[in-house]
Amino acid sequence: MMAAGVDAPDQAADIGPPLWLLAELTYRCPLQCPYCSNPLDYASQDQELTTEQWVSVLRQGRAMGAAQLGFSGGEPLVRQDLAQLIAEARQLGYYSNLITSGLGLTEAKVNAFRDAGLDHIQVSFQASDPELNNAVAGSRKAFEQKLAMARAVKAAGYPMVLNFVIHRHNIHQMTDILDLCRRLEADYVELATCQYYGWAFQNREGLMPSRAQLETAEAAVNRYRDQLADAGEAMKLIFVTPDYYEERPKACMNGWGSMFLTVAPDGTALPCHSARLLPIEFANVREQSLQSIWYHSPGFNHYRGDGWMPEPCRSCDEKGKDFGGCRCQAYLLTGNADNPDPVCSKSPSHDRILAARRAADHATAGLEELTYRNRHNSRLFYRTG
Ligand code: SF4
Ligand code: SF4
Repeated sequence: MMAAGVDAPDQAADIGPPLWLLAELTYRCPLQCPYCSNPLDYASQDQELTTEQWVSVLRQGRAMGAAQLGFSGGEPLVRQDLAQLIAEARQLGYYSNLITSGLGLTEAKVNAFRDAGLDHIQVSFQASDPELNNAVAGSRKAFEQKLAMARAVKAAGYPMVLNFVIHRHNIHQMTDILDLCRRLEADYVELATCQYYGWAFQNREGLMPSRAQLETAEAAVNRYRDQLADAGEAMKLIFVTPDYYEERPKACMNGWGSMFLTVAPDGTALPCHSARLLPIEFANVREQSLQSIWYHSPGFNHYRGDGWMPEPCRSCDEKGKDFGGCRCQAYLLTGNADNPDPVCSKSPSHDRILAARRAADHATAGLEELTYRNRHNSRLFYRTG
């Protein structure tokens, strides 16, 4: 039975409601991206929420004030109840977004989802050409399928959003990627440099671009932006650069438990999709209401406010801007999630970021040396982990 009851009037008056709900419907996926943000041991977690349980999560989230809903995974299309969940989201009044690899999508589904009320589909690509795309994705047919589905999404009248995860093996393709997006008549293009969590952290040395590669790519994107502006074309480009080349950390999730709520496939509720790697116990929507989890669970309250901060964050005049950075990054790089994010040049552990930058300058690993995200490799992690 799912806990969906209404709590007593909330005591935590200074905590705002979750505005974004990310429904990670499944960890199943036909692709094998070596930068996947899913947990390394995802194969140990087979207990997906039922349709009824997801409907309850959507209703509870909306009742709390969530307005934006993302369906992601894994590949959310493997869930046979996706159209039903989309229809429920529409009825509840969410603005809904499907984040998909395009594998498993058909023209009929694109249209059925639109009719059910889906607002937005984001199709991800691995590269601008079939060879590299399919090698990174671990599927011989992925590129052609993605092209076909990007066209179908556009034809169905959705805003066309294409996402490319950028790393050292495709960062030289910026102009080709943007040419492809232009041919597909994309409205928005997200060039998202790898964030080093999950499988991407495992493969960081083989994925992280050098500073020289990054600067060349940034210049290419800026030139392209100028060309688009000169041609009067509306395609919008967002280039998310890697925080490993910054001196200050990102304001991760706009602050822990401040507006983002992720529900993992098994019902674990998290402040961000990576947080289950932390040594913190997170509550499950099978056992507690979403309201109780958000406002009162130890997991969500763990890093709220700044009382938990050690120095130098505690007395830093920038702590209201970045909240000490990312807890997952602090944990992965220092072994203690309480530490300042090592991206910060004031962090005593900033040398780990500097070492990663130096390693990226000299990295030689080819695609064949990466650890691909698949059930076989995942099982090795939870057997040895
Ligand atoms: S990053 Fe790749 S492997 Fe991971 S869920 Fe997305 S498409 Fe699947
Ligand atoms: S010391 Fe902490 S709060 Fe200050 S800028 Fe660095 S990470 Fe942010």
